[in-house]
Amino acid sequence: MSDLRFDPVSGQWTLIAPNRENRPVELLPVEKVSQRSVCPFCSGNESETPAALAIYDSAGRVLPASDCVAEDWTSRVVPNKYASFGPIDARTNGQSPDPLRRGPFTVSSLPGPQELVIPSPRHVSSLSELDDFETNVLWQASQDRIALMQSGGFARHAMLFMNCRSQAGASLAHVHIQLIGSPVVTNSLAGRVQRNRDCLQRENQTLIQSIIAWELAEGHRIISQSENFTVLCPFASRFAYQTWIVPNRSDVAFVDLDSAKRNELGQLCRTMTGQLEAQLNNPPYNMLLRMAPFDQAAEDHWYVEILPRTTRAAGFELGTDVWVNPMPPELAAKQLRCS
Ligand SMILES: [Zn+2]
Repeated sequence: MSDLRFDPVSGQWTLIAPNRENRPVELLPVEKVSQRSVCPFCSGNESETPAALAIYDSAGRVLPASDCVAEDWTSRVVPNKYASFGPIDARTNGQSPDPLRRGPFTVSSLPGPQELVIPSPRHVSSLSELDDFETNVLWQASQDRIALMQSGGFARHAMLFMNCRSQAGASLAHVHIQLIGSPVVTNSLAGRVQRNRDCLQRENQTLIQSIIAWELAEGHRIISQSENFTVLCPFASRFAYQTWIVPNRSDVAFVDLDSAKRNELGQLCRTMTGQLEAQLNNPPYNMLLRMAPFDQAAEDHWYVEILPRTTRAAGFELGTDVWVNPMPPELAAKQLRCS
């Protein structure tokens, strides 16, 4: 039995179609990222990247800029070598990020910064291969760079994501976070903010809090719950095995997570990506940090989303923006609970 589901957070519809689940033609083969002879993100190859913007040492301390050639590091933050715009430090202060109107078009006069956070000097090919300390420092570096974007006025919104394996968009096997400061708030992001605001006015709780309460009562799509986070497959999952890692409370911004909560979040991310890899034979996946625009942060309820890329958008999805998901999230959550 298929059903059409509306996700109140994203405002998108998904067609859950389990009758297509067993059609192997629907599933993409696992593709291997081509291995380069010299990995620019591995220890010893630091000169292959642009100069580091920040380095976190083996104790997790951020080093002074003068030490950004240090070789004893846990995380390195570097500008994206292939971005068409510069890092935060090269921005011109005082410019407005306001988009401009040109006839029927809107353009952004000030592209945002684009950076990479390399999570380990070891050649790691998935989030699941990081250890506790590396994951903690990865989140810490991400917090610091997002806070810098926010305070610097260079961007209205921070998009943090990880593309793992080539069919998820990765061009290098050594896994890394990408952070883009966007000068614009897209319609989909604005809609997300508005739906959350509507829920706050209607129920005096965030939309995510409302969903957590419902899902805990139902139980079908919950994978786990820890002291500070709930892991679930969303009701209107667009992707098979789509997973959310959601803070139980909305009053701690991502940039304000303390070390204990960073550890907890990191362990959950590694556990979930490891389970997806075991269940789906190392699928490509994207990990996203879903945050509100900076000026809406006070009422935000951020979360981490993991999207295994085992299906491909076709004409129906592109034509209607309704995606077909062959794996009911209830069944996906049940499998992930048991693994
Ligand atoms: Zn490497």
